[in-house]
Amino acid sequence: MKILVSACLLGFDVKYDGSNNGGLLPPETLELLKKTADIIPVCPECFGGLSCPRSPCEISGRKVFDSEGVDKTEQFKKGAVQTLKAAKMFGCSLALLKEKSPSCGAKKIYDGTFTHTVTEGNGITADLLLKNGIQVFGESQIQELLEALQKQDSAG
Ligand code: SF4
Repeated sequence: MKILVSACLLGFDVKYDGSNNGGLLPPETLELLKKTADIIPVCPECFGGLSCPRSPCEISGRKVFDSEGVDKTEQFKKGAVQTLKAAKMFGCSLALLKEKSPSCGAKKIYDGTFTHTVTEGNGITADLLLKNGIQVFGESQIQELLEALQKQDSAG
């Protein structure tokens, strides 16, 4: 079994500020995941051609803007398409993606005001993956992800 995982959660320095979110995934959790499935690291914002570091971005309406007001929607859309391509290429039907990100977040994202306010909605990549039948879990849903992996395993 193979799962897509946000590269920043794996400790790769692809976050907007050049750091990572590795601290959100405890080493024992990562080890367990590695034993359960093959991990395919993805960073939609890098796939979309954005630099690293870069200005933070948030979704506002149907578009994505950085904190200077520059429209980055096309890069986010490209990153989503490239990430879906990776999912299809490696046969991933599950993904573990960073919560609240304008790319990776599922169900909850920042609201576009750059005030750390969270609202309902999907990041651009999470949305495309979900529309293509890929289950998306966040870092606070490891137990649910492991159960889904187990279910998939027993289904053969
Ligand atoms: Fe992490 Fe996703 Fe943002 Fe890349 S796009 S830094 S993988 S949350």
